[in-house]
Amino acid sequence: MITKEKKPYALKQGMLENVMRQFDHAADHIGLNPNIRKILEITNNELVVHFPVKMDSGQVEVFTGYRVQHNNALGPYKGGLRYHPTVDIDAARALAMWMTWKTSLAGLPYGGAKGGIQLDPTKYSDAELERITRRFTYALGDNIGPELDIPAPDVNTNPQTMAWILDTYMSTKAPAERSTNLHVVTGKPIGAGGSQGRDRATGYGVFLNIKFWAEQKKYPLRGKSFILQGFGNVGYWAARFLEAEGARMVGVQDAYGSLYNPLGIPVEPLFEYAKANRNSILGYQEAQPVDSGAFFALDCDLCIPAALGNQITARNAADIKAALIAEGANGPTDVEAEKILLHRGIDIIPDILCNSGGVIGSYFEWLQNRNGEIWTLDEVMEKLEKKMKESFHRVVAFATEKQVDLRTAAFMIAIQRLEQTYLQRGIFP
Ligand code: NAD
Repeated sequence: MITKEKKPYALKQGMLENVMRQFDHAADHIGLNPNIRKILEITNNELVVHFPVKMDSGQVEVFTGYRVQHNNALGPYKGGLRYHPTVDIDAARALAMWMTWKTSLAGLPYGGAKGGIQLDPTKYSDAELERITRRFTYALGDNIGPELDIPAPDVNTNPQTMAWILDTYMSTKAPAERSTNLHVVTGKPIGAGGSQGRDRATGYGVFLNIKFWAEQKKYPLRGKSFILQGFGNVGYWAARFLEAEGARMVGVQDAYGSLYNPLGIPVEPLFEYAKANRNSILGYQEAQPVDSGAFFALDCDLCIPAALGNQITARNAADIKAALIAEGANGPTDVEAEKILLHRGIDIIPDILCNSGGVIGSYFEWLQNRNGEIWTLDEVMEKLEKKMKESFHRVVAFATEKQVDLRTAAFMIAIQRLEQTYLQRGIFP
């Protein structure tokens, strides 16, 4: 039997330990029903698949893919697919749990899942990545589905990856059923059934959270400086919206290196440079390279981690200069670092709130596919802003009322919604 003392997973240091400690802390605060705690602290389903793919050389490589479905009490499982060497069962469990809290907090009719493939995509050609993706989709089979489990892009996956998944999934269905499966993935290219605005939804949501925070603190964003870790989908769009608001990006880091320029690094030219430079910011001339180990200590007003988990730890938390950390990434700040930051009076907009624009945008895409509708960019952005604003103010008001930090408040709201669902529905049989 699983009890609070005996955890369902052997916790090694990492994202899983983090999310479990965050969950425990919030669950203690609300006095979560112990039976429901047992359900929520473990995942529903865990799928590990090994599948062969023919490489360009003619040789066969066997890959390992994961899909962890944490909870579906509120609706179909929802969450991204990540292609990265750090993907393993514990990473997928942790990220799936964060998805459950995120969708619950956002008030969406979804549960939480996550998965991916353990690989370094830079080592494969586009044709190989297509075959890897298609064979992975085939291996997942009917464990995903438009009303069961709906993947989306995450680190190193993109609209093209989603289009391959959709095409493979649809191709395995009878002809009459094919077009009823358009919503098996979200984050698709527009031509393949994607939604206007999904590309920028996560980054725009990060920006909106910063804007709402700044309005509340009477802290004008014009003239403020920010550092950004991760110049991919989330980071690029967040930086673009912040720059348009008058803030300047003084530091940026990606998987290849770090850049600094106290006068500001222009976002669009850097984006164009990286696109032409195999998605790397390294070598960009309008900024100077800096030691990646010292990145989070750079002088700035705002800090946006938008890459991987466990980047802000006890090792670098004391050096951070920013007044705010806006978590574009999932799990970028570990529990020990958070204690240090809160003690220092640094605000943190937690991942499950800060980057929830992505899954809200995905929900809009899913609804359009399901209902045969096509919304304009303005409609999508307006609806997104409305939802983000509600979420932000709900979390802030709850934190103030309960005298807790923003992450604990966000978790408490998310967990309470799930608790209520289980209490009303009961446990079968
Ligand atoms: P992406 O693949 O588009 O970009 C990732 C960026 O991070 C790249 O610039 C890459 O070079 C950089 N990076 C990778 N490893 C790094 C390292 N060790 N140090 C510094 N930089 C590194 O991915 P993304 O979709 O932008 O996702 C980024 C984060 O946001 C992830 O944590 C993801 O889970 C989270 N997130 C993404 C979405 C979404 O809609 N894409 C939604 C919610 C949350």
